[in-house]
Amino acid sequence: MAAKKDKKLTPMMAQYMAMRRSLPDDVVLFFRLGDFYEMFFEDAQRAASTLNIALTKRHDVPMCGFPYHAAQGYIAKLVRAGIRVAIGEQTSTPVQGQLVEREISQIISAGTVDDINLLDGARHNYLASICCIGKRYGLACADHSTGEFTVSEFSDKMQLEDELKRLSPSEIIIPDDQISQLGDVAHCMPYDGYAYIPEQAQHQLKEQFKVQSFDGFGCSEMTAATSAAGAILHYLIYQLRRSCDHLLKLSVRDNNEFVMIDSASQNNLDLVESRSGKKHTLLHALDRTATPMGARKLRDWILHPLRDLESIVARQDLIAAFLEQPYLLNQCRDSLKQIRDIERTTGRLSQGSGSPRDLQSLGLSLAQIPTLKEDLQAVASSTPLANQLLANIHNFDDLVELLERALVDEPPAKLTDGGIIRDGYCPPLDEFRSASRDGKQWIARLQESERKRSGIDSLKIKFNNVFGYFIEVTKAKAEFVPDDYLRKQTMANAERFITPGLKEVESKVLGAEERSKQLEAEEFSKLRAQIAKHLDELQQTADALASLDVLLGLAETAQLFQHSRPILDESRKLSILEGRHPVLEQTLVDEKFVPNDTLLNHEDSRLVILTGPNMAGKSTYIRQVALITLIAQIGAYVPAESAHIGLVDRIFCRVGASDDISRGQSTFMVEMNETSLIINNATNKSLVILDEIGRGTATFDGLSIAWSVAEHLHDTLESRTLFATHYHELTDLANTRKAVENYNVAVREWNDEIIFLRKILPGSADKSYGIQVAKLAGLPDSIVNRAKDILSHLEMNSSKPEAKGKPKAKNTKATMPESNSPQMDLFG
Ligand code: ADP
Ligand code: MG
Repeated sequence: MAAKKDKKLTPMMAQYMAMRRSLPDDVVLFFRLGDFYEMFFEDAQRAASTLNIALTKRHDVPMCGFPYHAAQGYIAKLVRAGIRVAIGEQTSTPVQGQLVEREISQIISAGTVDDINLLDGARHNYLASICCIGKRYGLACADHSTGEFTVSEFSDKMQLEDELKRLSPSEIIIPDDQISQLGDVAHCMPYDGYAYIPEQAQHQLKEQFKVQSFDGFGCSEMTAATSAAGAILHYLIYQLRRSCDHLLKLSVRDNNEFVMIDSASQNNLDLVESRSGKKHTLLHALDRTATPMGARKLRDWILHPLRDLESIVARQDLIAAFLEQPYLLNQCRDSLKQIRDIERTTGRLSQGSGSPRDLQSLGLSLAQIPTLKEDLQAVASSTPLANQLLANIHNFDDLVELLERALVDEPPAKLTDGGIIRDGYCPPLDEFRSASRDGKQWIARLQESERKRSGIDSLKIKFNNVFGYFIEVTKAKAEFVPDDYLRKQTMANAERFITPGLKEVESKVLGAEERSKQLEAEEFSKLRAQIAKHLDELQQTADALASLDVLLGLAETAQLFQHSRPILDESRKLSILEGRHPVLEQTLVDEKFVPNDTLLNHEDSRLVILTGPNMAGKSTYIRQVALITLIAQIGAYVPAESAHIGLVDRIFCRVGASDDISRGQSTFMVEMNETSLIINNATNKSLVILDEIGRGTATFDGLSIAWSVAEHLHDTLESRTLFATHYHELTDLANTRKAVENYNVAVREWNDEIIFLRKILPGSADKSYGIQVAKLAGLPDSIVNRAKDILSHLEMNSSKPEAKGKPKAKNTKATMPESNSPQMDLFG
């Protein structure tokens, strides 16, 4: 801080400096000064520009501020800009000539906001903590807005980063003594390494959960994970000064339970995000959830498809049961639509924040449960999952009744507005209210009687915050007022008076109002305490409702788009009849989506080489197969006539030469890194989608790499693979490899134009039609015709290279130049 040493600090400035010194440098301190929050020095300079407020100077100290009641908006702006905000509150009542005591009430950071306006209902807001202990990487993730708290462990850093990408936390902390190992993880921030020491961290966790060991959570062996988790608590409690009472348990995420989808594949499959916009994601195509809790869960399910057959079938069974009873499905979805974000509302209320409207919305949501449970009961006999959900969805009849009885029909947004508690709920409150009402009526009647008594028709009784109630008379009539009027204030054209009687009633009115506000606040806290008592059941219920919501939403999607129930087993099959791309089938406007089959039985067919002109539909088709597989393993119905899929352990999806300028790597290098990830991790249960890999380099290099990768996938890894490629030479692999099959996307040539048929047919493409596609794209005729000349020349002058394996011309026409520069003689 830039305070000058030689100047003596005022006591308040000294208090400020001490408080500021106790905070991390990057935090901005909102220092409460009466009705304002003020910022000083560098904080003021940083905040003023982000908040767009005036920076002033007093005694050379840069400062800025705003009225305290506007704080929420300003906090939001800074947090959104990635700046943490510390709130320095006044904690003693101001007394003339004395320094008010102040304390930091909390620090708000991106990973810990609970302001609804800052949170996206459809996404979790995670604070993550990672560390490396021994050879293990530990990850802990807390959603402070809901109370969810999970841990997992990884044996390599890449897996950790993939999971981070899936969870996309708003904030990540790492131990400050592991910057060399973990500092390159995107958006991470160092935190006190002490908090990560296993003994310290585990002590912190045991305190939190009041347990002696972690056996009950299933993570007693997970030192790295529990260390990361303990550090999260330390950070929340000691640095951010946040309440963690609603973090009730630690859940282990075992990554072996899920289909692994690395971060490049997540991108390439447009699972939850897409460069072409949200509408083009799988999440959007499947999402028919009715509650924010469901929306959050669906996102999580899509990023974590299951590997356990039984769990998948359990989900399918529930969907099937509801599809058989569409009436029940609608009815349940209607109930769910009345349910708000129980998870986050409970989170707020249990921490002492939360508004009267939160209480009301919780009450209304919980009121839906009995009907919902009844409907769910109707399918319970045929599905074990329904039973499990029923057991976790609790009844809160007493709470619902209490909230209904206690709260008015339309409570105000803020507690301080008053008028929250219903008449008849709290007798003392009713008394104060009627005292205040009676007094007000008396005052209202007073105007009439005083007009009569004084004979001044324009006499008015008014109220303001400075004088309370007073009698106002115009200047002209002022001399006619009765003798017992006491003059209080002279205005430009009116005089203001009070009378002892008026003041007496006024104090009754104001006193009663004051007391009833206090009483309301007390009753409100009592209600909140009731919620906190049921926290555990509420969280369980919210979670089960979220799952139900996702499943019913998936049933709805299946119904809307005629998705069918896939057969899943432990085989290596991949057989899809009339499969569609789940996103395109919903978004295509001009064309109708053309379905296609996929028939891989592993033994005789497991690697498909797919050729065809640009724009024919290769990329769409291979992704569609990956997405159908993924959807099947979520437990959902798939966009196909029928499907039989052997469970996969991983899904890889690579796209050649995708630019990654932001990471500062050459596109080819990125592509090769990604390819090597597949080679090192794919198994005979994996599904591999390769889209034009090997294109970021010279033709021969690229082809050779693509060729050897394909051979390795076929011979050694035995992964089910779909390979879309421009290298027609690759189709020769089918001649030497048993389980390689060639397919192409059909096009029809018509008057020198091409028509895309979107049908996948056996065999390889005969031509690449690059020039026709260029023409379609609007290249001028002169260029197109010249290109045709050059092409025919090239084709005449070149011959086929020796391909590995048994080279055979087949029906492939694409050729490669023999020398590096066959153009020389063309242009020479
Ligand atoms: P390629 O990878 O062969 O260049 P794409 O898969 O990118 O071609 O497909 C190009 C476009 O063709 C897609 O954006 C889509 O609009 C359309 N398309 C692809 N497959 C189909 C299909 N089966 N039915 C209808 N339209 C399709
Ligand atoms: Mg493509």
